[in-house]
Amino acid sequence: MINVRCNVGAILLDGKKMAQDIRKELKSRVQSLADERGRRPGLAVLMAGDDPASKIYVRNKIKACEDLNIYSELHALPHDVPQADMLILIRELNARDNIDGIMVQLPLPPHLPAAEVTETINPDKDVDGLHPLTMGKLLLGQETFLPCTPMGILEILRRSDTRISGKEAVIIGRSSIVGKPLALLLLKEDATVTICHSKTENISGVARRADILVVAAGRPEMVTEDFVKEGAVVIDVGINRVGGTIVGDVNFREAGKKASAITPVPGGVGPLTIAMLMRNTVRSAEMRLARQAVIMHPNPGGG
Ligand code: NAD
Repeated sequence: MINVRCNVGAILLDGKKMAQDIRKELKSRVQSLADERGRRPGLAVLMAGDDPASKIYVRNKIKACEDLNIYSELHALPHDVPQADMLILIRELNARDNIDGIMVQLPLPPHLPAAEVTETINPDKDVDGLHPLTMGKLLLGQETFLPCTPMGILEILRRSDTRISGKEAVIIGRSSIVGKPLALLLLKEDATVTICHSKTENISGVARRADILVVAAGRPEMVTEDFVKEGAVVIDVGINRVGGTIVGDVNFREAGKKASAITPVPGGVGPLTIAMLMRNTVRSAEMRLARQAVIMHPNPGGG
């Protein structure tokens, strides 16, 4: 990839450009599915309520499907949708042949337990990678869908030729959708991984050990120059609305003085998260159609 040096000295890890490249790769896979198997991949997106940020994320996901010629349907449910109705809808989508992936936009309204909702999704269609079975397989290092944001972060590291094996990776944030699964992925890539959280003592000191520093705390610009080792690669996952603008968890100008490479916000991890959702959906369609082909023709060639 072309490395662009930003005005703070570090190389800018351009997630938007990387996501465009991935979409180009996916377009031909979508076309092959349509040509060879006679149908496009399908994604169902569910949201409950009208959280403004969720609405933007969901719109971006539907738009990405349209760009790739992936079939999509948005189920925008009212804020007070009964839990039973939501679970019935998910079961219907589980049974539908033209739906390969189901994702539920989080956070859900307080009366809807995210765990129960997520568990209702058929793991074969769990393209967001948040089902307990998917997470368990990830823990065991087995083949499975990977959660989109951690997978997107790994993709940024790979596409920027960042060496992971043997390196110190520090993750700030221990959520189930970012910090914890990312730690497992980096461990699988042979990094030495440390997870920091809100109770970690001397957090800047721990962060300064990192060759790869990933920040997913939801705290606007909490990572200053003091957190960054000279030459570290800094990945900012945070999306925070501050006075009408969006800022990350990293103070870009300060951290960029010491980092060798850094992601911007917006235009860093966010576009990769959506690209990975698209990739998981295409993969799900390929796997499901291959399974169906085996069921219809169990013994090709006869004998
Ligand atoms: P979360 O609220 O579920 O978890 C935050 C984590 O950060 C917790 O583990 C907490 O212990 C830790 N934390 C909070 N304050 C801290 C502090 N001062 N010091 C150290 N650790 C602290 O958040 P999440 O869902 O993982 O999201 C984190 C951020 O990433 C948010 O800004 C969110 O909007 C963003 N996000 C972005 C994407 C993307 O695609 N770019 C995807 C998911 C989340």
